Amino acid sequence: MASHYDIAVVGGGLVGSSLAIALASSLTSSSYKIVLIDSQPLADIQLKADSLDGRSIALALSSKKMLYALGLWDNLQEHATAIKKIHISDQGRFGATRLDSTRYAVESFGYLVPADHLINTLNNQVDSLDNVTRLQPYKVSAIENHSNHVILKQNDGETVQATLLIAADGANSFIRKALGIGLEEKQYQQSAIVGSVECEQAHNNTAYERFTEEGPLALLPREGNRCGFIWMNPTEAAENHLTLSDQAFKDKLQQAFGFRLGHFQSVSKRFAYPLALLMSHQRVQQRVVLIGNAAQTLHPIAGQGLNLALRDIAELVELLNENDLQNVDEKLDIYADKRHPDIEKTIRFTDRLNFLFNTDYPVLKQSRGLGLAMLGAIPVLEERIVKQNLGESGSNVSLLRGHMINP
Ligand SMILES: Cc1cc2nc3c(=O)[nH]c(=O)nc-3n(C[C@H](O)[C@H](O)[C@H](O)COP(=O)(O)OP(=O)(O)OC[C@H]3O[C@@H](n4cnc5c(N)ncnc54)[C@H](O)[C@@H]3O)c2cc1C
Repeated sequence: MASHYDIAVVGGGLVGSSLAIALASSLTSSSYKIVLIDSQPLADIQLKADSLDGRSIALALSSKKMLYALGLWDNLQEHATAIKKIHISDQGRFGATRLDSTRYAVESFGYLVPADHLINTLNNQVDSLDNVTRLQPYKVSAIENHSNHVILKQNDGETVQATLLIAADGANSFIRKALGIGLEEKQYQQSAIVGSVECEQAHNNTAYERFTEEGPLALLPREGNRCGFIWMNPTEAAENHLTLSDQAFKDKLQQAFGFRLGHFQSVSKRFAYPLALLMSHQRVQQRVVLIGNAAQTLHPIAGQGLNLALRDIAELVELLNENDLQNVDEKLDIYADKRHPDIEKTIRFTDRLNFLFNTDYPVLKQSRGLGLAMLGAIPVLEERIVKQNLGESGSNVSLLRGHMINP
């Protein structure tokens, strides 16, 4: 016999677990029975996060407010570092653009949190919620979409029935494929190399964005003098970089970044993520909504993937709060319409930014230099970058303003 839940969230990654927490802790109907399903054992996810991930996640200010409202910030802030300044420069060109959060009357542009700390904090919170059942490991391998419920099946035949299915099962989403939802795909032929470096000098809460010969490089402030880095390289260059010894890689990174933070003292293990833009043709279908990487996977150049998904979650949770699940399809259509402009804008922003900073066309290279040099003098351009960092789109939604929907 199938176990029945009101809402099934498939995928317990950053997005699925944030969603389960938001649903369980901010709805009036916290009587909703929620199940969070993931194919990997929890211990494996935690172990992978502790030893393998390497990413530093930049959280926009609106994301921080939301995580605060959900009761996660007290724990997250133990390892969070505020980004108070942004410094943008181009290797081989003179000058730099500097943005300072004090000019915008905000506490910071956002915060940097190590991905392992974020994952572990989310997992602990999920486990503390009475109305969320964890079903893990459980690999969804078949789905039946009926007019008033959805049935999920695992190979061994164990079934789960839910009134609403939220697919947060990642870029390679099984649910998206099983429902026959198409995908637009663009391979960037790049990989992001991530890790962290210990610097000689204090970063003073500055995030550095530098456009190097081998691709855009960001150094992001972490605890003490440590900086997380993310360096987008063409695939082959990334593979070569990964084979270098710590010393040789440190020297390469130093050469690309320069000596703004003195000599790099040590470098962590590195990890590579192949990069692609994936856009699902539909984000909702009868009783099903796709979210996070399952709905769209972005280039990480502007650190927007999770921030965008948190804005999606805030809107979805607010809509589900207004009603029970009787006419859920209407709610999903409203959700898709409301979120469309922000999602499209964010996808375009990251894709174009990557194009601009990886192009070899001399004219564009020239205008990139001009763009950077003049950024501070062009309010519209500056405003766009700042807004994206603050995560302002959708900020009329309660959670994004740091308020619970039902305080
Ligand atoms: C290098 C890099 C840096 C980034 N930096 C930032 C940043 O600074 N700021 C930011 O906002 N975003 C950033 N992002 C984006 C962010 O990491 C993603 O948006 C986010 O991780 C997406 O999470 P997800 O939960 O949607 O997918 P995933 O993390 O892929 O989770 C999917 C889950 O679904 C489970 N699953 C899959 N199939 C099944 C199945 N059939 N049955 C059951 N479970 C299943 C998997 O086990 C997995 O746990 C970055 C991304 C990269 C690559």
